[in-house]
Amino acid sequence: MQQLLRNIAHLIESPQQIVITHHYNADADALGASLALFHYFSLKGHKCVVVSPNSMPDFLQWMPAAYKVLKFDEQKSDVISAIDKCGIIFCLDFNQYSRTKDMAPFLQQSKAKKILIDHHLNPDKTFDFGISQPSKSSTCEMIYDFINASGDNALINIEIAQCLYAGVMTDTGSFKFPCTTASVHEMVANLMSKGLKPTAIHQAILDNYQENRLRFLGYVLSEKMLLFPEYHSAIIAVSREELNRFKINTGDTEGIVNYPLSIKNIIFSTFISERDNEIRMSFRSKGEFNVNIFSRDYFNGGGHHNAAGGRSDVSLSETIRNYKQALDENKKQLKQCYLDLQ
Ligand code: 5GP
Ligand code: MN
Repeated sequence: MQQLLRNIAHLIESPQQIVITHHYNADADALGASLALFHYFSLKGHKCVVVSPNSMPDFLQWMPAAYKVLKFDEQKSDVISAIDKCGIIFCLDFNQYSRTKDMAPFLQQSKAKKILIDHHLNPDKTFDFGISQPSKSSTCEMIYDFINASGDNALINIEIAQCLYAGVMTDTGSFKFPCTTASVHEMVANLMSKGLKPTAIHQAILDNYQENRLRFLGYVLSEKMLLFPEYHSAIIAVSREELNRFKINTGDTEGIVNYPLSIKNIIFSTFISERDNEIRMSFRSKGEFNVNIFSRDYFNGGGHHNAAGGRSDVSLSETIRNYKQALDENKKQLKQCYLDLQ
């Protein structure tokens, strides 16, 4: 982080026009990191705009200043004008422009300096400056490090603390994934010393669904989950018709992929959903099975060792066939990773 700060110090020493952005379908880490940096830079006298490729789910709207975020899918000309006017673009929680979908060409063509702060594996080399730390729990933890490394811990107020906590809490699976280091707990202790109330954030994010989401969860767990014990794997695949029947929005499916991992002997779980233009896939694993590699090898995606996303351009049934083929090609490895966990 010190290295990044040294590299960009000359860019941010006087007040600047800054755009902060993140990946399509923002999660709590992407939005929390963006808004935390927005609040911090605003306190430092910069003019900041957060731009998002698309609208955020309802359970993130409580975040301080979320209402100020410009959405490319709804406010295209405002976003383009913000990108045109700015001198610096902070790219948070993604490391390939394509993850911002239709906004990507505008970011790429912009003459602004592009600065990456991200924790996904395999970053593109196309950013002007940046820091990529796959060992970090979350981009929010990196923004916390950035503020501290700038000597500004005292500027972390309750708004910043709430945004940062939301991202670190969700990206660590409520502090249970292996990325939950001592530094993560130290960060949370520090945020609490600034007045943060964790329970309220957990409730705002995790206890804030509509009835239909829980009915849908019940339906998919009882009717749609397929187990492949010989591969220590599980899959849940849902069609567009099923998503429509339960009135499911994008954010409502978040987290469902984790449920099969609570089954003894299952170390790899996949959630597949048929969206408007593509088949979306979420991968999660326990232990050594590397879903970043699996997703890159078979489904045009990537992410982290134990959590990744991908997509497929063929039909749902063909995707499931391809997935089973991929499972078979990984049979030995899945078995070994399972045994390593015993
Ligand atoms: P999710 O399954 O929740 O959509 O994604 C899991 C993790 O993988 C998240 O950290 C997400 O940012 C990342 N991810 C999702 N899709 C992609 C992708 O296509 N490429 C890369 N590099 N990361 C992804
Ligand atoms: Mn993240």
